[in-house]
Amino acid sequence: MGRRQFSLPIAMRAEKTTVLHSWCRQTEWNAPTIVGGAGAHLQTDAGQSILDFSSLAECSNLGHQHPRVVEAIRAQAQQLCFVTNAWGAQPRARLAELLLEKSGFSDGRVYFTLGGADANEHAVKFTRQASGKPQGWVITRDRSYHGASYATMALSGDSRTATQIDPASLRVAHVPPPYAYRCPNGTTSASACGTAAAANVAQLIDARGAANVAAVLMEANAGTNGIVAPDNYWPALRQHTRERGVYLVADEVMSGFGRCGEWFAWQRHGEEGRPDLMTLAKGLTGAHLPLGAVVLSGALARVLEPQMLYTGLTYCGHPLSCAAGVAAIESYQAEDLIERSRRLGAAMFTRLQQMQQRQPLIGEVRGGHGLFAVIELVRDRKSREPLSPWPDLHVALKGLLRTALEAGVSFAARGNLLLLAPPLVIHEKDLADALDLLERLLGELTIAMTTPTRA
Ligand code: PLP
Repeated sequence: MGRRQFSLPIAMRAEKTTVLHSWCRQTEWNAPTIVGGAGAHLQTDAGQSILDFSSLAECSNLGHQHPRVVEAIRAQAQQLCFVTNAWGAQPRARLAELLLEKSGFSDGRVYFTLGGADANEHAVKFTRQASGKPQGWVITRDRSYHGASYATMALSGDSRTATQIDPASLRVAHVPPPYAYRCPNGTTSASACGTAAAANVAQLIDARGAANVAAVLMEANAGTNGIVAPDNYWPALRQHTRERGVYLVADEVMSGFGRCGEWFAWQRHGEEGRPDLMTLAKGLTGAHLPLGAVVLSGALARVLEPQMLYTGLTYCGHPLSCAAGVAAIESYQAEDLIERSRRLGAAMFTRLQQMQQRQPLIGEVRGGHGLFAVIELVRDRKSREPLSPWPDLHVALKGLLRTALEAGVSFAARGNLLLLAPPLVIHEKDLADALDLLERLLGELTIAMTTPTRA
């Protein structure tokens, strides 16, 4: 993790002037170019090694260039690169079997997509079709993220894209999030916040009339919004939706495949938390190839089976991606990575709580289930004044990220939140060193924030 300055090689100059990059101003784009990777490390074109502490977009759960997955892709490419989803493909069927087995949806079915956004769009399609409510309302929550396509911008409660779409025009309605640290319902304990936020969903279903609501679609644990729902939230949500005959969709795109210490985050609540559908992507192939999936319960599948399914994507269930998915699941299992995530995640959480005692900028540390944690930064811990207004990234936090990267560690931030989500294969020493670095940089940030600047 030696400190290095990034040069601007020729390839990067071409990248800067020819490619449109996501979620940034192009004029400010200044990221390294990656040419290789192994385990939790990435290699830049300038020969630098970067410890990836966010699994890139919280997706490389298996680390980079996982040998079993790379080999499965190579072998599948040699045998058969492509056949459409209208015909059969062995790795697709095998992957569906594995997903149903791991989720316990033993008589369910799987619809494959290309990523998370189209998995969520298809989950909505399936719930509307199966419920016989083709224009049924879908309830999601504020401060959620379900993708960047038009329909998923409507599903998301994301202030960055809110002006681009009118959710009501797509029959989407939002409820307040279970954000206990700043509870929109004004509660003062985590469990009261969970109860109140789940009740908001029940109230909205009742207000619209259960006969007009097709589904409730929510992240089962944290998402990139950095809100970790109180423990009682998901089971309460399940109870309210079941009582009202409304399908519950768990968006497990980010929380699945060990990220939250389980194959799928809802499993922490046992059968009490079982949704009717779940959507997957990211960790499904460990991001080695693009793939998403909608896993449907047996009951829902039975309703759809005799009906015409008016949907399809040319590349859905692509054999290469499915072969990568099979190898990914075999790797999580063979290397006991779900349990590893739970163990290292608990240790990381304890370490972060200790850090909070010493670092006044840390307002709250959330997570603790698997290798995923959120640090919320504040100007003042007592008043909980945010470091900067949501969703802005404070210039000093930007500086912290840059310094960390120069020191060889890539941390992810969104607004005032640091999202810690390293690959599940990260070495324990790398994990400890990165947290040491983070604490040192947060200490420096505190000094910078409290030292008056000279005129
Ligand atoms: N749902 C959640 C919870 C996510 O975190 C994301 C991506 O970050 C998505 C959906 C969208 O997935 P994709 O970017 O593959 O479309």
